[in-house]
Order: sequence, then C-alpha cells, then structure tokens
Amino acid sequence: MSKTPLTLYLAAPRGFCAGVDRAIKIVEMALQKWGAPVYVRHEIVHNKFVVDGLKAKGAVFVEELHECPADRPVIFSAHGVPKSVPAEAAARRMIYLDATCPLVSKVHIEAQRHADNGLQMIMIGHKDHPETIGTMGQLPEGEVLLVETVLDVATVQVRDETRIAFVTQTTLSVDDTADIVAALKTRFPAIVGPHKEDICYATTNRQEAVKAMAPYADAMLVVGAPNSSNSRRLVEVGAKAGCAYAQLVQRAADIDWRALKGVNSIGVTAGASAPEELIDEVIDAIRQRYDITIRTIETAVENVEFKVPRTLRAAE
Ligand code: SF4
Repeated sequence: MSKTPLTLYLAAPRGFCAGVDRAIKIVEMALQKWGAPVYVRHEIVHNKFVVDGLKAKGAVFVEELHECPADRPVIFSAHGVPKSVPAEAAARRMIYLDATCPLVSKVHIEAQRHADNGLQMIMIGHKDHPETIGTMGQLPEGEVLLVETVLDVATVQVRDETRIAFVTQTTLSVDDTADIVAALKTRFPAIVGPHKEDICYATTNRQEAVKAMAPYADAMLVVGAPNSSNSRRLVEVGAKAGCAYAQLVQRAADIDWRALKGVNSIGVTAGASAPEELIDEVIDAIRQRYDITIRTIETAVENVEFKVPRTLRAAE
C-alpha cells in the first residue's frame, strides 16, 4: 500500500545551543582528565538521553553537593547554581568545574552589579527552575523578588520604587516576557534592566523559527524534555502562532499518532537540550508512516561557540 504524502517542515535553528554543547563537552573532558566517576550536580542539561549517555561513560548525577565525595571532581550544570554551591565546594576543597552557560553567568553578574549599586532586584522567571534558583541565589536570601506573570507585577512589594532593577531567566517566552517587562515599566517607570530582557539568542531564534513554521504546519512536534523550559515554551509559541496541535515528545515512541490523523503537514523542532540524534529518530518514525517531503524553514544561522574552562583546555 502506498504511503500518504506529507510535508515535513523542519525548523532551523533547532536543538543544541552553544551552552548545552559546552556543558556536555565539560563532562566528557572531565571524564577523560580525571577518569570515572565524575559527579554532576543536577542534570547537566535537561535531556534524559544525554544524561544516560554520560552516565554510561562514568558520570554520576546528584541533586545536591553533599551527595558527592570530597575527593572526586564535581561539575555544576548549565543552568547555574546559587553562590553558596561553589562556596561549599571550595570549603570542602573539592575540584569543581562550572558548566553554567556563559549567558546565564552574564545575568548573574548583572544581578550582582545592580545590587552593588544599591538596587533591589526583581527576577522574571519560573519558580523552582534551577536557573531561577541559581540567579536568585547570587544574592542573599530574600533579596531578589520573583515575578512569574503580568498579574504578579501588580502585587510585588518593593522597598523603594525608584531603586529597582530586573533580570530574566534566559529561556522564557519572548512575547510573554515582553508583556511582563512592559507591566513592570508601567508600574515602576524608574526600573533599570537590560535593553529588552536576558532571553538568550538560542531561545529567541528557536521561537522565531517556530513562529515562521506554524502557519504551514497542521501539527507540530517539539523534541525535548518535560523539564526543559525552552522546549516547553516552543510548544506554547507554536500553539499561539496558530498551529492547531503541538506536542512535546522526548523520543519517537512518545508521538501520539492518533492525534496526527488526517494532517497533511507536520512541523518538527527541538529544544536547546535535545540532540540531533533524537530529531532524526522522530523524522525516521514519520518517514515510516508517510511519504515525506522535507522543507526547512530557516530564520537564522547560528555560529556561537563557547570555550570550556581553562583547566580542561589542555585535554582538548
Ligand atoms: Fe545558554 Fe541559552 Fe543554551 Fe541556556 S538555552 S544553555 S542560556 S545558550
């Protein structure tokens, strides 16, 4: 029986960003340099496939530093950590490597600089996400106020309306964040912040590509993990941009084929922590059922690369 024809739109850019690439490289290079086991505090990036691959090479994943022995190296995940974490590692004389994405570290520096200038900080981010915990943890507890929605802006209590600044999580929805920033500026005209927000190039580019793809795709599959903030935002952005059905899938086995019944086109993209291997797996699964024609929708070309920490460069 001949297969049904289907157009598969592929978003570009999609998948791995420079920060994720660097973080994974740090774990691999640390394993080469020190041998197994190397400890990693929190999932190095939010992707089970990546984490399982590194576990197989000898990485041990833990949630807190006290779970690591002092005599083995430990790596902090790409999402960043509160200041107390490296301080504790130093106190225990551990070898530690910081795989925090440089674009997250930039936000940490911004928050510290504003606080040094006597400004009270507001963070726009998702409560409980490790990046938000890490950024808020750059300053003493209670010093950074969290705002998650436009509604929160109306109730946030600041010390002095003329002495405040904001930073944001790097993986938020560009459009939702613009609304929150606008609400903050209306309520606190003197608020200081980055030019637009701190959302990174990778998050912005992946959302732009999804917006461009959405009008063509009857359905959209976003390859990514349920705890990956930027992947979940891609699903929301796809739906908001007019795609009737958008599903987050970790792998091909998660695809809900019944929901795709009758579609003539499927858009495929991936969050910044999803490897190309998994995207290929999803495309192959679609190919097995349909006669596909692939069209790439490219809205930006990325050539960002971040260096690994100096301690590891000799192993490169
Ligand atoms: Fe860095 Fe952005 Fe990638 Fe996060 S999504 S690791 S901030 S480049």
